[in-house]
Amino acid sequence: MNAPAPVAALAPTVKLLIGGEFVESKTTEWRNVVNPATQEVLARVPFATPDEIDAAVASAKDAFKTWRKTAIGARSRIFLKYQQLIRENIAELAAILTAEQGKTLPDAEGDVFRGLEVVEHAAGIGNLQLGELANNVAGGVDTYTLLQPLGVTAGITPFNFPAMIPLWMFPMAIATGNTFVLKPSEQDPMVTMRLVELALEAGIPPGVLNVVHGGEAAVNAICDHKDIKAISFVGSTKVGTHVYNRASLAGKRVQCMMGAKNHAIVLPDANKEQTLNAIVGATFGAAGQRCMALSVVVLVGEARNWVADFVEKARTLKVSAGIEKGTDVGPVVSAAARARVEGLIERGVADGATLELDGRNPRVSGYEKGNFVGPTVFSGVKPGMAIYDQEIFGPVACLTGAETLDEAIAFINANPNGNGTAIFTQSGAAARRFQEEIDVGQVGINVPIPVPVPLFSFSGSRASKLGDLGPYGKQVVLFYTQTKTVTARWFDDSTTSHGVNTTISL
Ligand code: NAD
Repeated sequence: MNAPAPVAALAPTVKLLIGGEFVESKTTEWRNVVNPATQEVLARVPFATPDEIDAAVASAKDAFKTWRKTAIGARSRIFLKYQQLIRENIAELAAILTAEQGKTLPDAEGDVFRGLEVVEHAAGIGNLQLGELANNVAGGVDTYTLLQPLGVTAGITPFNFPAMIPLWMFPMAIATGNTFVLKPSEQDPMVTMRLVELALEAGIPPGVLNVVHGGEAAVNAICDHKDIKAISFVGSTKVGTHVYNRASLAGKRVQCMMGAKNHAIVLPDANKEQTLNAIVGATFGAAGQRCMALSVVVLVGEARNWVADFVEKARTLKVSAGIEKGTDVGPVVSAAARARVEGLIERGVADGATLELDGRNPRVSGYEKGNFVGPTVFSGVKPGMAIYDQEIFGPVACLTGAETLDEAIAFINANPNGNGTAIFTQSGAAARRFQEEIDVGQVGINVPIPVPVPLFSFSGSRASKLGDLGPYGKQVVLFYTQTKTVTARWFDDSTTSHGVNTTISL
């Protein structure tokens, strides 16, 4: 692999957001933001200094004093305006996203749209942040709960959904009355920053939302900071586990959504055409760089004969830059990611899997420098092979077979990850058995990427998640609030006094 390009001095700089101002970092450490289809340097992103991170947290801490008491209606109207601004600017947002991340323009719009749905949900916060009340828990005594914001909260996001995942986090944290410090992925921070600009335009007050940039040092500073109360993390299992352990030790509430290896089961009674279309789309879409990508396909019984049809569909996908019309598979995010995926393909061959379709070094006219890997298909994949044991995060399908549904379920349950899974069948009984027995947090029935809408919460499980509560939806209201239980009695003139009582009754 070539050495990384020197940081381009003339490229525009990505700003920090501190106290409502977009400011230039004083750091000496910068990194290029690169178009993965062309290697054009789009911007330079700073690695914020410890003082800058402290300033961002201090501004969030100060803003919390007033924001926590801001009326629910006022908070919700900001998100009503925000959803409108995102809608009006969705084409521009998608274009920025495609340029820095690589996914196709329609998929980039989808990335923004799935985040927009969370903003719409945040606008309904008045219906979500409700306590409970029990009348007369003892004579003249009521007990009720208040869901109060925590204070300064923080979010650390991955490269693969630079619009959706920041929008999973700060709208719900802020709508529930918290203030926020966001640390976007250093690989593609530009669309996130445009979304942050729109959030300020919608009326988020100075200091309520802050942004710092960087990598390991910034993340560690967030984990350790005494004034941050809770952290939402989405990214790899290795980094998420580190964040969970480090921030928990520092006394914070932490939720980490992490890596995956998502399996599809295909039963022979499935609608063949619909099933293969759905799985091929979910495997190779976004160049396989989705945490919910279907990367392992378990063909059951007679469906084991469908390998050739799967390969033929994969072969027809168009590999090109995300801005080109008709592209199915864009580049992977970086030259390093491409080298890693190609290395894993090589290991798949060495480990004895059958390479049915080799997507390495595709010819992409006009984009010869892009980080392209075409659709790649292995059959005969087994646990113990690197392509099965690791999350490839590239356009590589691992096909395997099973005799029965029970064998296929046991195979999936033996994998440590629990992010997503799907079954394809026309049998309600088989689907119900799968839904009951499978030990994975998000289950699709003839739905390849079952990411829940924000009426629910994202619900990965096992090695794909640390912490109890998921992002967005009802669960995140509990994550971003402290339940305070009030037990109250009011005396009036008719209340009889029973004198001093030293027992434990109310
Ligand atoms: P990553 O873990 O490399 O980076 C995530 C964040 O952690 C980034 O902001 C990055 O700056 C920071 N970081 C990177 N290295 C660090 C280190 N050594 N110490 C502290 N912080 C560090 O993840 P990524 O490559 O950006 O994203 C891809 C991963 O995210 C995949 O594993 C994917 O499955 C996962 N993901 C999971 C979900 C989910 O909901 N479960 C969603 C999207 C992505």
